[in-house]
Formats: sequence, C-alpha cells, structure tokens
Amino acid sequence: AIIAQSLHFRFGSQMVLRDVSLEVFPGEVLAIVGESGSGKSTLLNLLYGNLQPCQGSVHAIGNAGLQPLASLSQQTLRQLQRSRWGYVCQNPRDALRMAISASGNIIERPMAMGLRHYATLRQEARHWLEKVEIDPARLDDLPGTFSGGMLQRLQIARTLISQPALLYLDEPTSGLDVSVQAALLDLLRKLVSNEQMAVLLVTHDLAVARLLAQRIAVMRRGEIIEAGLADQVLDDPRHPYTQLLVSSVL
Ligand code: ATP
Ligand code: MG
Repeated sequence: AIIAQSLHFRFGSQMVLRDVSLEVFPGEVLAIVGESGSGKSTLLNLLYGNLQPCQGSVHAIGNAGLQPLASLSQQTLRQLQRSRWGYVCQNPRDALRMAISASGNIIERPMAMGLRHYATLRQEARHWLEKVEIDPARLDDLPGTFSGGMLQRLQIARTLISQPALLYLDEPTSGLDVSVQAALLDLLRKLVSNEQMAVLLVTHDLAVARLLAQRIAVMRRGEIIEAGLADQVLDDPRHPYTQLLVSSVL
C-alpha cells in the first residue's frame, strides 16, 4: 500500500503539484488521469521516491510496516524499490538494456539479488515470456529485433518477474498503434486482476482508465480535482472539467 498526504512540489518557481493526497491498497488499480503537463509523471516520481515533495508525505509499506519514505536511507529506499516495487515506463527503451538478450533483461534484477539459480531463472524467463504472450523461442534474441509492442511486453515481463506488491505504470500503452494497444491492455487487465498487487496507473486516456481501474483520480494543473470509483467519475462526473474531459472523448 502507498499513502500520499498533501503533497506539494515545485520545479524552480513553477508549482507543479498542489495538495495532492491519494492512497492505493493491495488488489486495486488507481488510475491517475489528466491532460499533458498536469503533473501525472511528477506525482508518480514522488510516490516512487525519485523526487522529494517540498511539503507533505508519502508513506509506504516496507519490511518494517508503514513508513514515511523521507525517513528511509537511500540504500533502504533502493532495496524497497527493488524488492517490492515495479516501474513500467512509457518508453520501454528507457528501461530495457538493448545490448543483452530478452532473457537477460527479464532475469537481470532477481539475478543481481542472488536469490535463485541461473537455470531456475531461465525457466522463469520462459514462463514470463509466455505470460506476456511472446514466443519463448525469442528468449535469446536481442530486444532490437522486437516490435514496439513486444518491447513493452518485455519490459512488463522484466518488471513482473519480481512479483512487485506495488506496480507503477506510466502511460504503458501510449505510443503504440491502436491494435497493439488493445492487445496490450487486454494483457495488462489479466495480469493486474490476478495478482494481489496495488497498481498506480498514469494515463491521459480515459478508455484505458475505465478498462483497468477501480478508482480514478483526475488531475488538472497539479491538483486532483475529482476522485472516486471509476464508474462514478466516468458516468456521473461532478467537476465541470471532468465533465468536459468525459464528453470530449467518450
Ligand atoms: P504528460 O502527459 O505530457 O506526460 P504529465 O501530466 O506527466 O504530462 P509532468 O511531466 O509531470 O506532466 O509535468 C508537469 C509539469 O512539470 C509541466 O509543466 C512540466 O513542464 C514540468 N516539469 C516536468 N519535469 C520537469 C523538470 N525536470 N524540470 C522542470 N520542469 C519540469
Ligand atoms: Mg507524463
């Protein structure tokens, strides 16, 4: 679980986030939606501990129960990120290592942690390729030979092999063409509904939020202007901005 209380953040003199609070618990998907520049990625980076708020706090469940991220040493934070969290970014090329094989990419993190034997990890890599619907015959191929949609699937396999308790998804399906996007969304829906994961999904696409999330928070210019159950927010929005957003795309 992760809980953010009254986060404020600025880049220089620009106020990027104002009084943002949210929480997400195991087994649920929270979508953070809003237009470009509204602060979604910045918020995700604060919740991941990559950025520090100027005001407010982020609490996360770690080995010692619920703890403020600000109290953790850099080393403990990295350990928490590696062992319990997963981050899928918009552009898989930012996360993948293009010079090593698909298998190498998938098993890199658990191998570095030294918890399982190489042969076991190879089996797991094969299993995860199947889970993300890539032919396991591609195990030893370089990512450079994969299509955009396959690269995103590979990034997801690489993230999920560690079975994160908390999954961060930043625009996981944008930048892909529509049919590839639909297939990837379908896959994500299966993966997130089966596990006891807490999922933070950032998207500007309300259709993606509707498909994957139980709850939605709508951001505008650095503030959450409306939040609630997905059906309520999308079918009966209260805030004029959400009404505009919904009527312009659905
Ligand atoms: P998008 O949908 O385009 O990804 P977003 O909602 O994720 O947008 P952010 O990337 O969080 O928005 O940006 C929020 C605001 O913060 C924008 O005004 C952006 O210009 C600013 N910003 C983001 N990163 C930086 C940075 N490293 N330095 C200065 N300003 C930044
Ligand atoms: Mg962004």
